[in-house]
Amino acid sequence: MSEIHKFLFDGLPVRGVLVRLTDAWREIMSRRAANTTHGAYPLPLQELLGEMTAAAVLMQSNIKFDGALVLQIFGDGPVKLAVVEVQPDFGLRATATLNGALNDTASLSQMVNVGNEGRCAITLDPQNRQPGQQPYQGVVPLFGDRHEKLEKFSDVLQHYMLQSEQLDTTLVLAADDQVAAGLLIQRLPMQGAGNLAGSTPRANEDDIGLNEDYNRIALLASSLKRDELLTLDADTILHRLFWDEKLLRFEPLSGFSGPHFSCTCSRERVTRMLLNLGAEEAHSILQERPDIEVGCDFCGQQYRFDAVDVAQVFRQPDQLPPGSEAVH
Ligand SMILES: [Zn+2]
Repeated sequence: MSEIHKFLFDGLPVRGVLVRLTDAWREIMSRRAANTTHGAYPLPLQELLGEMTAAAVLMQSNIKFDGALVLQIFGDGPVKLAVVEVQPDFGLRATATLNGALNDTASLSQMVNVGNEGRCAITLDPQNRQPGQQPYQGVVPLFGDRHEKLEKFSDVLQHYMLQSEQLDTTLVLAADDQVAAGLLIQRLPMQGAGNLAGSTPRANEDDIGLNEDYNRIALLASSLKRDELLTLDADTILHRLFWDEKLLRFEPLSGFSGPHFSCTCSRERVTRMLLNLGAEEAHSILQERPDIEVGCDFCGQQYRFDAVDVAQVFRQPDQLPPGSEAVH
């Protein structure tokens, strides 16, 4: 079962989350494999999308926010887009768009950052967004401080978190076709007196990279190997890494309250998309074929609109709420 394990280090300004996606991730993989248009993802893309999915669940579980977290890569290579959405209840879906073939040994930059123009975007979309209200979005490049191409997706996100939240974060991510997993260790901002201490040496520990406890724990976390993360259960991983630390663990989130596959597509959303397309365009498609077929890239669901459906869509546009949201 897919699980989220949150924990604190007793008395230290450090917290962590461990995520293991099994059934939820396999559902995404098998739906893609069953897709007759696209077929299964090549290995390196499987790995990237799995790491992104684990990371998106880690981030969603690590913030107090009532809305969807969307993690996207806009690639300038054969992989044009990779996107993961995680809802507040950890319902999740993911998909990627690949143009052409991909070598089994393709690196991150060979997939999405060939000309160093690839971007990663993190969007927080509030649950009850008011009309006109923009979702929060942060965008980071896929290169480091000296414009060197990053080859680990975890490095891209660590960069992002340092920039946007000013928080030291260590991420370890791994995925294959069965498991997508990740470990996040984050230093909490110093509370109360620590922040007020001003110029005393103690206050300097709040600077990025200067907390000894965090550095020790981050070093332990980054010693976690890909194979261990993919094959060991959460208790074994946490014990192996932090056996000498005092861990305060929360009740794991799994099953109904844990990460699970869920797609938010619907016939209503596709109908709105047709409305945005316009009657003229819709009818011109129908001159060439018996119906308009829209497939959901996330779950594989096919939505069909024949001439009667299309006539209905454009006859009563007032009954649908206005909106420009396109179906993915
Ligand atoms: Zn869908």
